[in-house]
Amino acid sequence: MIKKFLNPIYITRPIFPDLDKFNEKLKTIWQSKILSNNGVQCQALEKKISKILKVDNLQIFNNGTIALLVGLKSLHLSGEVITTPFTFPATVNCLIWNNLTPVFCDIDKNTMNIDVNKIESLITSKTSAILAVHVFGTPCDVEKIQEIANKHKLKVIYDAAHAFETEFNNKSIASFSDLTMFSFHPTKLFHTGEGGALVFKNTDVAAESRMLKNFGIKNEEEVIYCGINGKINEIQSALGLLVLNCRNKERKRRKLIKDTYQKMLVEIDGISFVERNKSETKSSYQYFVIRINKDKFGKSRNFVYEEFKKYNVFTRKYFYPLCSEYPYCKDLKSAEKVMLPVANRVVEEVLAMPFYGGLKISEVKKICNLLISFRNL
Ligand SMILES: *Cc1c(COP(=O)(O)O)cnc(C)c1O
Repeated sequence: MIKKFLNPIYITRPIFPDLDKFNEKLKTIWQSKILSNNGVQCQALEKKISKILKVDNLQIFNNGTIALLVGLKSLHLSGEVITTPFTFPATVNCLIWNNLTPVFCDIDKNTMNIDVNKIESLITSKTSAILAVHVFGTPCDVEKIQEIANKHKLKVIYDAAHAFETEFNNKSIASFSDLTMFSFHPTKLFHTGEGGALVFKNTDVAAESRMLKNFGIKNEEEVIYCGINGKINEIQSALGLLVLNCRNKERKRRKLIKDTYQKMLVEIDGISFVERNKSETKSSYQYFVIRINKDKFGKSRNFVYEEFKKYNVFTRKYFYPLCSEYPYCKDLKSAEKVMLPVANRVVEEVLAMPFYGGLKISEVKKICNLLISFRNL
């Protein structure tokens, strides 16, 4: 009989940098008398992250959703955008807020990213872009997607909320698109409390975005775009600078945790892991996700999720429900279940497990033993 955890175990815990160091940063901010509007901390963070991601044209935002909203607007898209139903609501909502119609494309059964072999059949005269997601940090087939986009003159956009520092053939994942969005929400490995970023291919588009994130203000005399407030503040930026220093240690811990999970679960019938793309030369370590095949394991994902709760373990059914099931999407032709067979199957199988540096190896082992024990209930 395995005892329940005394304290709840969640799927993640944010990085908290040393409080004394944060206090020092706060002192600097207090002395500067500046709290927002592209201050010293924000500029330092932008510079540092540009260097880490090896990109030009990077802008930090107050969150990833506003970043994507502004980025899409700066690209002047129209009509339809081909995207995935297997993502967080922000991806699809940002399209709709830009008066764009999402066209759902089914996903690959192994990577759970957009199925590149099904994109072309969805392209119409109204299609203006492909918005794909590097789901759980696994890179999409960026080369094939670019090839399709070139052939049909479409823009390529990625939601890389899970893919901070992911590299594809030793190149930054942000270098394969017209626009890539990152999220720095505290559930993400690297965070700024709340925050996000955009990376642009085109410098003119980036210049428009700079104005859009500041209400469309060009200068003190002119407002030229219908912008919004996408600015991050100095306190969040300072926090981000300190979190950056902790991220590699966090990744090392997560690697150990991932290896422990895999070692304990690899031989369990009906449990499988996300298949990594061979071109993924650096991983983000954002999530550890398992798939539960009900027929082979004997119990469903939903059963396991509910059982875990009884032991104070709170896993997540990412990304349930599919975006194509949202009330404001479900009447789209592309949202029909018969059009999305793989996504509709995968969404019943996926479970994101507790995954953060502070998790003890003994706790990981206990979580695995619990999962194994559920089979015999
Ligand atoms: C976290 C997340 C977002 C939203 O980012 P915020 O910074 O919270 O606005 C968007 N897309 C995906 C896939 C995410 O996981």
